[in-house]
Amino acid sequence: MPDIKIRKELLETLLELGKSQHPDEFLAILKEDKGVIEELELVPGTISGETSARFDHFMLPLDTKTAGSAHSHPSGAIRPSDADLRFFPKIGKYHIIIGNPYTTDSWRCFRANGDLFSMEVIE
Ligand SMILES: [Zn+2]
Repeated sequence: MPDIKIRKELLETLLELGKSQHPDEFLAILKEDKGVIEELELVPGTISGETSARFDHFMLPLDTKTAGSAHSHPSGAIRPSDADLRFFPKIGKYHIIIGNPYTTDSWRCFRANGDLFSMEVIE
């Protein structure tokens, strides 16, 4: 399967979500269709502190369209925490972290093992 891409509009939605939830985190499941991520499923509930602490207790609705996850780091540190790295392999291959200040450059994508992945953004 070729590497996945993300729709620009969805990326902008993720950045907006990060901004609107700040200083709390948000967590979303990313859905792909034909190799393009264009949908998200917001994991409900306001989360304060470290999202990842919650991941272990959360039963995620997995289906074949699940590409991975997206969540925010209000601290602005755009790298996976230890808890993130335990969580990532459970929920798909691609994981986006959005950081304060939630601008166009405030995000990175990681593979399940924590390697940086440069995901292509398409219109
Ligand atoms: Zn995290």
